[in-house]
Amino acid sequence: MLNNDMKQLIIFAAPSGSGKSSLINKIIEQGDNKVQLSVSATTRPARKGEINGKDYFFISKEEFVNLQKENAFIESAEVHGYMYGTLKSYVNEKINEGVQVILDIDVQGFNQIRNSLQNYVSIFIIPPSFEELKERLFTRGLDSKEVIENRLINAKKELEYASSFDYVVLNDDFNEAFEQISSIIFGRKVIDNKHANLNKLQDLLD
Ligand code: 5GP
Repeated sequence: MLNNDMKQLIIFAAPSGSGKSSLINKIIEQGDNKVQLSVSATTRPARKGEINGKDYFFISKEEFVNLQKENAFIESAEVHGYMYGTLKSYVNEKINEGVQVILDIDVQGFNQIRNSLQNYVSIFIIPPSFEELKERLFTRGLDSKEVIENRLINAKKELEYASSFDYVVLNDDFNEAFEQISSIIFGRKVIDNKHANLNKLQDLLD
């Protein structure tokens, strides 16, 4: 059973390159199978090493549109030119198993669900600087220059939505960011520095 203080859904958003995936992976590792990532459907082609059904359900545009018509998504959005959606069936199944489910979605998706869902906590991750974000995107080597440039333009737009999240976590030092997120998720006392981080974010956007 879920502890009453625990939120069933944990919503993460961040511009790509903020280190969100590494933080989420570590949380899942420590969560002893009680915290799992919701596997979304996407029309984006799989990257090298990605596994269908584990990283995403990789589907065609047509299949995606059919799922939308069937009202199969909790939310769905176009991100960086591809469609992504959270599957109702997947999330419900996990919640019924007593698992805390992490949604790794973009800000458009969050805006679609923030007023309709209950019992969730939302966390926005910010990078220490725009330069750092750029460097992380290039060094991880997952995307082409054009794709990265598109992601950087979107990053600025995404950062503007940070204030609507419950927590804003600065990922400057990975371990510190991890400790903070882990406190939020595992119900320990959290030092809430949303306000300070929003000020920092303002510098980042100027
Ligand atoms: P990537 O292509 O790098 O795996 O993900 C790109 C972006 O799509 C990330 O910001 C990620 O949070 C977002 N994303 C992944 N799955 C979903 C989803 O189901 N819904 C929405 N709205 N965004 C998603």
